[in-house]
Amino acid sequence: MPGPGYAFYDQEEERSVLAVLQALLNSRDTYGKPQLISQARSFEEAAGERLNSPYCLSLNSGTSALLAGLAALGIGPGDEVIVPGFMFIATISTVVHSGATPVFAEIDTSLTLDPQDVRRKITERTRAIVAVHMLGASCDMAALSQIAEENGLYLIEDVAQACGGTYRGAPLGTLGDVGAFSLDTFKVINGGGAGGFLLMKDGRLFQRAYSFHDQGWFPGREETGDGDVIFGLNLRMPEFNAAFARAQLAKLDTVLERTRLVKSQLDKLIPLRPGLEQRRLNDPDGDCATVSVYLFDQPEAAQAVAQELGCSTLDKSRRHYYAQINALSPPPDQEAPTCPFQHKPGEKRRNTLAPGELPRTDNLLSRAVALSVGLSDSYLGSGFGASVRSDPDELSGIADRFSAAAAQALR
Ligand SMILES: *Cc1c(COP(=O)(O)O)cnc(C)c1O
Repeated sequence: MPGPGYAFYDQEEERSVLAVLQALLNSRDTYGKPQLISQARSFEEAAGERLNSPYCLSLNSGTSALLAGLAALGIGPGDEVIVPGFMFIATISTVVHSGATPVFAEIDTSLTLDPQDVRRKITERTRAIVAVHMLGASCDMAALSQIAEENGLYLIEDVAQACGGTYRGAPLGTLGDVGAFSLDTFKVINGGGAGGFLLMKDGRLFQRAYSFHDQGWFPGREETGDGDVIFGLNLRMPEFNAAFARAQLAKLDTVLERTRLVKSQLDKLIPLRPGLEQRRLNDPDGDCATVSVYLFDQPEAAQAVAQELGCSTLDKSRRHYYAQINALSPPPDQEAPTCPFQHKPGEKRRNTLAPGELPRTDNLLSRAVALSVGLSDSYLGSGFGASVRSDPDELSGIADRFSAAAAQALR
């Protein structure tokens, strides 16, 4: 099972998608025909309402949502954007493609941005911080919001892995200036293979994000309007994906109820012991509970357990850990701005993706094992564990295998 929403797929999604075929409506724009209801617009309305945000824009992926967020905020060449060393590559590549420079910061035992290290990484060029809510759970948003405010920085939330999660009661994605979501198959809910959306606090950001995602048009595909005319791309969400996502969104509460129940049952069956603790959660009540992460005191113990269970420690997370993407050309820095598509032979630049750049992140991820609860993604190490369909018997079997492997490794 990829993401948990996938397990709840049924006739609702089918009906919703079929309605698009029958209406022969293939664009979010109704071209002045109000009787046609665009699926993309109806998804935006529903998502904005469910997640308590005044502005929601649907897009064709989470990557597009991040890119549109950066464009809406006007981030570009000369700007530095602070990103965590544990994220997804799109968190970095969208910064690179905006022409800005990603600056890496450490994570803490929550496996999200360490606010103290964020402070250390701020320079006079810093414009934004990307808070990535990794593996379903929120960053320390109180600390990050304070840092952003004190330093006049934008706060961008990457909510791709935590749709429906909350922090102190507020939906993730509504705490920063913009919040980018993915509806890929491996996320909490999905758009039938792909999709994304962006939440924003104010209408000006919405207008800019809209224009960027649809060839510079004003909202409603108007030729003129209030705001900025900017060069845009085509990042619109297809109607079929929007229809599918609309049906999935209606199940978000059911999905989260189930992942949270399974996780709490599984956690109870796994006794902690010296050398074994759980990842710290900045807000346990708001966790999407897609995985359950355990931290061992030594990398060797974590590796041994992962090997025994046929999964991997989080430092093996391909495309999610800075030291696992260092085959890519080093990101540009201010002294050497570069085209992301060019590899200049012999070019000498400090590689900010080289293993060892973030020693604490390296250490933490090498000690972490993520058990599946509703998400199974080998790129995120979670190949072993439960699913949203696991019954109590299956859960005790999983807990016993994990506990036995942990006991063996920690002897
Ligand atoms: C999946 C993901 C993205 C990108 O979303 P896509 O829909 O795959 O483009 C961005 N950030 C994080 C943290 C992700 O997990």
